[in-house]
Amino acid sequence: MNEHRPRIAVHKFASCDGCQLALLNAGEAFLELTRLADIVHFAEAGWYEPAAAVDIAFVEGSISTPEDVERIRAVRASARHLVTIGACATAGGLQALRNGLTQSADWLAAVYASPEYVRSLPDSQPVAAHVAVDVELWGCPVTTEQVLAATGDLLRDIAPAILAEPVCVQCKQRGLACVLVSRGEPCLGPVTRGGCGALCPAVGRACYGCFGPAGLPNTAALARRFEDLGLRREDIARRFLFITPAAQPFRDASRRYQDPERE
Ligand code: SF4
Ligand code: SF4
Repeated sequence: MNEHRPRIAVHKFASCDGCQLALLNAGEAFLELTRLADIVHFAEAGWYEPAAAVDIAFVEGSISTPEDVERIRAVRASARHLVTIGACATAGGLQALRNGLTQSADWLAAVYASPEYVRSLPDSQPVAAHVAVDVELWGCPVTTEQVLAATGDLLRDIAPAILAEPVCVQCKQRGLACVLVSRGEPCLGPVTRGGCGALCPAVGRACYGCFGPAGLPNTAALARRFEDLGLRREDIARRFLFITPAAQPFRDASRRYQDPERE
């Protein structure tokens, strides 16, 4: 093996594997990447060397068990750049909906056939809660373009540019009719980070926030707009918790509507 070739690893934690598909779905571009760099660990694709030292470690999934905590520390120690990919790794993911709830024995027994084997942390946590993260790529899932662009930048020692503008900007760029204004749909696009190309509004659906909070999101103003649309307080509280419930701005917005005393 040429020792000057960059080395890349892809690690999985608590997740659905969808973000790893962003790499596999790259097709020819992924094959080109394997010509430029050594993929030394990517279990889903057949490479298995989890302890290998690498230039870039991509991490999918949230930290949900004591074993995950040990493993992510080892990944951090082995990587020059650690890049989280997707809502689970950057913000705890869907599984963070359980955060703050008491996991009673009844609750576990209702979900799992053998609850005695379940050993999890009280919360599903983003990777950054445990180790330093160099780049966070948001989305559920991330796009192939995001992952390839970040890979190319890091291999050239350039800091990847991460979009902070909201989905609304991408709607305007594509000339899409606004589903919030024209149809009264409770769209989270004004407070959600762009990057998907306004995928949902493009097919007439409201954004549900899978790319996490945009820069400086005005969740209070959007929540008032949802009230004007007739949404009940509990529906507004849930609306901010769909995919990235552990992301602070969305969690705070939701809490304001769960607890009227905080308004
Ligand atoms: S459809 Fe949603 S994302 Fe698009 S402009 Fe309207 S509010 Fe913004
Ligand atoms: S429009 Fe919103 S929910 Fe749909 S893919 Fe984009 S960020 Fe995710």
